[in-house]
Amino acid sequence: MKNSRIFLSPPHMTGNEQHYIEEAFKSNWIAPVGPNIDAFEKEIAEYVGAKGAVAVSSGTAAIHLALSLLNVKRGDRVFCSSLTFVATANPIVYQGAEPVFIDSEPESWNMSPIALEKALSEAYRKLQLPKAVILVHLYGQSAKIDQIQALCDLYKVPLIEDAAESLGSLYKGQHTGTFGEFGIYSFNGNKIITTSGGGMLVSDNLKALERAKFLAAQARDKALHYQHSTTGFNYRMSNILAGVGRAQLEVIDQRVEARRRLYERYKRKLTMLEGIQFMPELQDTTTNRWLTVFTLDSEHSNVLPEQLIMKMSSQNIEARPVWKPLHLQPLFRDCQYFSHRPHEDISKKLFLTGICLPSGSNLTDLEQNRVIACVQDVFEKSVNKEGII
Ligand SMILES: *Cc1c(COP(=O)(O)O)cnc(C)c1O
Repeated sequence: MKNSRIFLSPPHMTGNEQHYIEEAFKSNWIAPVGPNIDAFEKEIAEYVGAKGAVAVSSGTAAIHLALSLLNVKRGDRVFCSSLTFVATANPIVYQGAEPVFIDSEPESWNMSPIALEKALSEAYRKLQLPKAVILVHLYGQSAKIDQIQALCDLYKVPLIEDAAESLGSLYKGQHTGTFGEFGIYSFNGNKIITTSGGGMLVSDNLKALERAKFLAAQARDKALHYQHSTTGFNYRMSNILAGVGRAQLEVIDQRVEARRRLYERYKRKLTMLEGIQFMPELQDTTTNRWLTVFTLDSEHSNVLPEQLIMKMSSQNIEARPVWKPLHLQPLFRDCQYFSHRPHEDISKKLFLTGICLPSGSNLTDLEQNRVIACVQDVFEKSVNKEGII
């Protein structure tokens, strides 16, 4: 076991999943409808404090539905956080719309209100306001929601929160994902709770959620025969997987606690290393610390992020760079981008200096010690090589 693989964020089952799966089998609800789905939707809505929820096959599907509900179509523009996973922006392209990327700001690493204001005021002048803004809460850290929402209200642009990574995170005591017109969560295998694959759309607009269910089930009109007057999707969650989600949701608070504890321990052991700076926690927020992330300042450290990631990999430890910003992706090279300040590209800097550490809620102390020792080792060797000590 000494060198067994340490994953970045593996699934963490409770054992109670089997109970709900068995129920599904016994009642023969082996379908994208059934009692586990209804219950899981109700339980998530209650947990986050939204009026309703619709369980779907992935977080990406939930974003796609939100954009459909907001009538985003060919030729429209959608503003989107740049520092995120590609899944945030892909549904914009599915709708034939054009993404415009917005930089991060240093205090939350999330969407810069300064960049957003610039983008919105320019769009307003050019009569090109976006159909929606997609705001990501990266690695569990909530964005500056008040400022972002005020700007969206001012320009009357609906806000979609991509809270795929931030289930259980709070902004001023309220759950991320419940501020915008729509919020989405992901239950992919690597997220804080998982259904192996799955997602949830939440909103206070119950009429819109009804429509989401309709669209997610091939948009079948009310008729005895199969009648369709609009294009739908096959996006509903399986009743078996919803059962997995129900058991996982029972322990969400413990999962948040466990990840926050891991972060505290990493910080205690590594913060004295020259040039390391951990992802901040914005004032008045509680992050679920989905991943523990730090940056390496090249002015104060001889260690390069690639070097650290390679070293960990050689010891069978999975660490990852921070998401490569979407405005730097070949896929989006022709898209417009608004940086935090002129000549200050925060998301690019975070990408070039950031490292995500193994953060699974089932990581043992011994495993975490292996990660910590590996980081310390790289730092010691680099200091020696430079002849500083
Ligand atoms: C995981 C993730 C998604 C996509 O969720 P899936 O369930 O994998 O489709 C979207 N946005 C962000 C920020 C994510 O981390």
